[in-house]
Amino acid sequence: MGKTVLVIAEQKDQKLRQVSLEALAAARQLAGDGGNIVSVLVGGHVDAAAEQLADHDQSQVVCVAADTLASYDAERYFAAVQPVVDEVKPDVVILGHTASGRDLAPKIACHLDAGQVSDVVAIEGTGAEVTFKRPIYAGKAFETKRFLAGPWVVTIRPNNLQADAKTGAAAPIVKRPYADPAPIRTQVVNVQSKSGDTRDLTEAKVVVSGGRGVRSAEGFAPLAELAELLDGALGASRAACDAGYCDYSLQIGQTGKVVTPDVYIACGISGAIQHLAGMSQSKLIIAINKDGEAPIFDIADYGVVGDLFEIIPKLTAKLREK
Ligand code: FAD
Repeated sequence: MGKTVLVIAEQKDQKLRQVSLEALAAARQLAGDGGNIVSVLVGGHVDAAAEQLADHDQSQVVCVAADTLASYDAERYFAAVQPVVDEVKPDVVILGHTASGRDLAPKIACHLDAGQVSDVVAIEGTGAEVTFKRPIYAGKAFETKRFLAGPWVVTIRPNNLQADAKTGAAAPIVKRPYADPAPIRTQVVNVQSKSGDTRDLTEAKVVVSGGRGVRSAEGFAPLAELAELLDGALGASRAACDAGYCDYSLQIGQTGKVVTPDVYIACGISGAIQHLAGMSQSKLIIAINKDGEAPIFDIADYGVVGDLFEIIPKLTAKLREK
């Protein structure tokens, strides 16, 4: 008999986040034959994202929309999903390992008295034998876990599982009312975006990242140009952020964001362990560094020893020719 799986989907700027389609694919694997998948989407205006979500085969998409849900808020979002959790009675709940998914997952696990496995990068097997692989020690090792009892709560790292393929069968969209629970103990007063680029670094397929070797804020311009050309996002090492070359919202690493793009281009980054913690799982790593002994070359698939200010413009020009 299959499992009932609840996907807690997410949207950004009224667009469904890619990680939610990856969660849906994971749900399909975990539900098994005869399983049942329901997705829930919470936010201020969710209609557009709900339609995107409903294009993917599942039993139902549940929408909970209200002005007070426009920004993520732990109390409100939990209050919005809890009735759906209680109604669906899931064997498995899947969320993205995102800022809000990380916050919400333990609340749901606690409510269900469930076990939780976080930051999953691979799911193997089916039925009771299914195992979950996750990085530990800042990506230096992996552990494989399995649940001994249900329900299961799982968060998946963006960009690691293959997203769900679109199907023709549109799932029904069901709207659920929402009222703020009382008392509400915290309130989002203002959300101020630090970076002008709205592209989500953690979901980008290509990341062009700069380190101290970029030398200045202006030095990031050729990297930004390359990133734009490749439809990618700009990232940075902590040293580059500390030096004021770019905003901390771009920082990748142990104390920054974790990214797993298809291609990571490290420019003027030495490859300190704290930086590797945020990018070593990238599918293809290209390093440009003028020091041939830089540790980044130990994990790079392709390495270019040379001055990034000569190499990047040449690379950009070559790509423009195509
Ligand atoms: P450097 O180590 O100074 O390397 C600069 C590189 O640029 C050198 O290899 C040099 O050869 C090369 N270079 C210079 N000029 C050029 C040129 N013209 N062309 C090509 N190459 C050139 N770091 C992070 O990145 N993310 C984190 O989240 C993070 N968290 C940390 C947490 C803790 C608790 C601590 C202690 C440190 C953390 N760090 C983090 C800092 C980390 O230890 C390194 O100091 C940092 O990653 C170094 O950044 P970098 O590679 O840009 O600079």
